[in-house]
Amino acid sequence: MTATLPAEARTARPRTERIPVAILGATGSVGQRFIQLLASHPWFRVHEVVASDRSAGKTYAGATDWRLDSLIPDDVAGLTVKNLGVELESKLLFSGLDSSVAGEAEEDYANRGCAVISNSRNHRMDADVPLLIPEVNAEHLDAIETQKKRRAGYIVTNPNCSVMGLAIALAPLERAFGVEAVHTTTMQAISGAGFAGVASYAILDNVIPYIGGGEEEKIETEPRKILGSWSNGRFSDAPMTISAQVNRVPTIDGHLMTASVKLRQQASIDDVRNALESFTGEPQRLNLPFAPRRPIHYLEATDRPQPRLDRDRERGMAVSVGRLRPCPILDIRFVALVHNTIRGAAGAAILNAELLEARGLL
Ligand code: NAP
Repeated sequence: MTATLPAEARTARPRTERIPVAILGATGSVGQRFIQLLASHPWFRVHEVVASDRSAGKTYAGATDWRLDSLIPDDVAGLTVKNLGVELESKLLFSGLDSSVAGEAEEDYANRGCAVISNSRNHRMDADVPLLIPEVNAEHLDAIETQKKRRAGYIVTNPNCSVMGLAIALAPLERAFGVEAVHTTTMQAISGAGFAGVASYAILDNVIPYIGGGEEEKIETEPRKILGSWSNGRFSDAPMTISAQVNRVPTIDGHLMTASVKLRQQASIDDVRNALESFTGEPQRLNLPFAPRRPIHYLEATDRPQPRLDRDRERGMAVSVGRLRPCPILDIRFVALVHNTIRGAAGAAILNAELLEARGLL
């Protein structure tokens, strides 16, 4: 996958050289996406790679089992992997760390003055940590001011990979009509479980109707924080109920989900479709390098979106929605698709960092 980035994107200061960044968990599934996506980034360059003591001391090329369909960028292949916890030269850290170590390590680096942009679940629901989707809740960045009262740096998180697709699809509906209840069923790709995640013997010719690590709970809670508000120094959840059922399916990338939604105000299918198609936010206004032109693409064909055909839309940064129709139990129903390791992980974190830079917060 190649990324062509808009050169004219705005930044808060004139940029003479790219900001050096460190990737925590650089050898993993999300870490590799960071390396791939940052290879031609106009504002950021990979300066340090960090992983466990299994990888530390080796070259990046020697430590990682590279699985992406592009070569390891030359300037990263020869970097020596650093051990998690060591002092880093970079002040901007992207984290794709396993959640067993992410909580403490991210906090430690934030306390040392770094901006930590995390994919892991550990700090997503913290009372002063933004759970950010720049198109949806850019105003939640005000929480950083509160966070900085207790630490020199700060943490900003992006949501669970399925939540990314669901919350982006729900955001225009919440804005236009209000959302009261959602029932969603996900079909999630194997890359979402990391490299060691699901054995081929378990997933081929099969569907596994369970994903550990509190996946259903994340889908039921994170959108409420994302679609809620930040005011008077606290987050308030959006008042909606979400019921989620998750499945692991034998696709490599791309989480597909069906959703039925009860709206607070009556809306026709055309009204809903207009709301989805006209949805934009601050990344589009600022023309940030990783911003999709349109965050949501509505697909007409009755059998779309499909993971293999639609996950790379807008370099993997757009959510595809289709099959919008009335629901006989709730009000409307549709299918949504998100690229789980790009828009749902590394690409999301990069867009978050771009918004921070554009706002002068780096
Ligand atoms: P992964 O492939 O298993 O990679 C985990 C990374 O963490 C590796 O770089 C690994 O380094 C490092 N690590 C593990 N134990 C460590 C330790 N004790 N000390 C230091 N580093 C350690 O996992 P992943 O799929 O990339 O997911 C990474 C994080 O992103 C997780 O928190 C996950 O929940 C979240 N996430 C994943 C996705 C997705 O679609 N995959 C989407 C959104 C969020 P070594 O190689 O040295 O072991």
